[in-house]
Amino acid sequence: MIDIGVNLTHPSLLTNVEQNILDWQEAGVSNIIAIASNIEESEQLSSLIQKLKGIHTTLGCHPHHADSWTHESKGQLLALFKTCAKAVAIGETGLDFNRNYSSQENQIRAFNEQINLAQEVNLPLYLHERDAEDTLISILNTHFDHEINGVLHCFTADKNTLKRYLDLGLYIGVTGWVCDERRGQDLQEAIKYIPQDRILIETDAPYLLPRTLRPRPKKNHPKFLPHIAEQIALILNIQEKELIRMSRSNTERLFCLN
Ligand SMILES: [Zn+2]
Repeated sequence: MIDIGVNLTHPSLLTNVEQNILDWQEAGVSNIIAIASNIEESEQLSSLIQKLKGIHTTLGCHPHHADSWTHESKGQLLALFKTCAKAVAIGETGLDFNRNYSSQENQIRAFNEQINLAQEVNLPLYLHERDAEDTLISILNTHFDHEINGVLHCFTADKNTLKRYLDLGLYIGVTGWVCDERRGQDLQEAIKYIPQDRILIETDAPYLLPRTLRPRPKKNHPKFLPHIAEQIALILNIQEKELIRMSRSNTERLFCLN
């Protein structure tokens, strides 16, 4: 199975990276997509993964880091895309008006420029959104008059929001957030409405440790993806192996992995 969201530059995964790879492979996770959150990480990932099997990456600037986006950033990313054959999407990009770690104005600017970049290199968008649904959708609509090639990663909202993203043509990434009985109820209901050809699965490791894991580890890891898949399959009332097959084929189609 394929984990579409791993923060591989986090020290808990980067230290002993070779051993970590063996650990997730042993758990049945054959491939991962590493996610970049700023230019520095994009550079780091594009060289780190050159020789690592089964790892692709996004390149981009997360809304939390939008204050660090300069007039040179787009060109820097473009240069990286030209040299890194294993870069498969632009991101994380999008808007986060929940924490506002960067100003909203800078988030919008970095987002617009990364959408332009995605159109130039003809690769999917890897989207992050918190409390910014209306603005995010209206910005996307100014750039696209057809279905958007991309994924709304770590979807945590309800079924009305889900419908709006599906209408844009986006794939939907589901994390271990579904395992959270306190805040995952709307989400558990919503994921039943994700079409079979639109669902992707991810850990967002080392963050978002699934609350149902026992014994309770300190940090999340791609090796826990089978647990998340099991929980999603239960909610969808389908076989776990069917979910794994669907999400794998969706991942390969979206990111052109074959
Ligand atoms: Zn995110």
